[in-house]
Amino acid sequence: MPEGDTVWRAAGQLHRILAGQQLTGCDIRVPRFAATDFTGDRILEVVSRGKHLLIRGEPDAAISDRASSRGAEPWTIHSHLKMEGLWHVYGRGEPWRRPAFKARCVLETADRIAVGFELGFLQVLSATEEAAAVGHLGPDLLGPDWDAPEAVRRLASDPDRPIGLALLDQRNLAGLGNVYRCELCFLAGVHPLTPVAAVPNLPRMVELAHRLLQANKNRSTRSTTGRLRGDTLWVYGRDRRRCLRCSTAVAHDQVGDNELELRDVYYCPHCQPHRGHIA
Ligand SMILES: [Zn+2]
Repeated sequence: MPEGDTVWRAAGQLHRILAGQQLTGCDIRVPRFAATDFTGDRILEVVSRGKHLLIRGEPDAAISDRASSRGAEPWTIHSHLKMEGLWHVYGRGEPWRRPAFKARCVLETADRIAVGFELGFLQVLSATEEAAAVGHLGPDLLGPDWDAPEAVRRLASDPDRPIGLALLDQRNLAGLGNVYRCELCFLAGVHPLTPVAAVPNLPRMVELAHRLLQANKNRSTRSTTGRLRGDTLWVYGRDRRRCLRCSTAVAHDQVGDNELELRDVYYCPHCQPHRGHIA
C-alpha cells in the first residue's frame, strides 16, 4: 500500500530521469486535462509532499510556442497514488508491465518514458494553485522541513480524537497511511481508539514515525520489526495470526471518522489495551 515512503521513492526515481529534461511527449489521460499538453516544456523537479507527488515544469521559452501565449508560467502535475497507483519508467520501445488502459499520465523524454498507472487522483495546477492544494498538509515526515514539535502540537490539538484516526489525518503530519498507523499504535502499546490525550508519550510516538519512514524510504520491503523477510510487520494484515510478542490472536476491526471512510485496523488486544477509551 503506498504510504509516504513509497511516494518519496517514486519521486526520487522520477526526479533522477526527468529533472532538467525537455518533454518530447505528454499525454494526460484524465478527461478534465485531456487537452493539456506540455510537450516542449522542461521538467524542473519531482518532489513528494507527504503522500502527494508533484512534477514541476515550465515552458522552455526558446522552444515552446505556448510560452508566448501562457507566458513562462510554471506548472505542476499533482498526483496521489491512493490505493493502487504506481509510476514506472521505461526505455524507448520497452513493453509496459501494466495494461495501457490503466495509464493516467505518460511523460516522454528523448530516451525515457514515465507512466503513472491507476493514479487515484491527478490534476494540473499553476504554482499558486499548488500552494493551495498541498498547503494544508502538516509537517512532512520525509520532507527537508520536518518539524516534530509542530506535528505533536497538531495531533494534541484535538485531544479526544482516537489516535488511530489522528495519525492518518495528513493535516497533523504528512506521510502515514494505514500500515504505519497500525504499526505505530502497536509499538506505542495503545489501542487505535485511544484518545490522543491518553497516549502515554506522544512525542515519542511521533519520533518513532519519523524513524520508521526514514529507515524504510530507500528499501522496497517495508519493515517495522527490523526483519526484512518473514514477519516484517507486527500487526498489519495479521488478523487471526499470533501476536509476535505475546501470542494473543491479532484482532481486526474497522474504524473511521464516518461510515464512508472506514479503514481496516489490526491490533493486539493484550499488548494494546484500551486507555481512556471513549465508546
Ligand atoms: Zn501482543
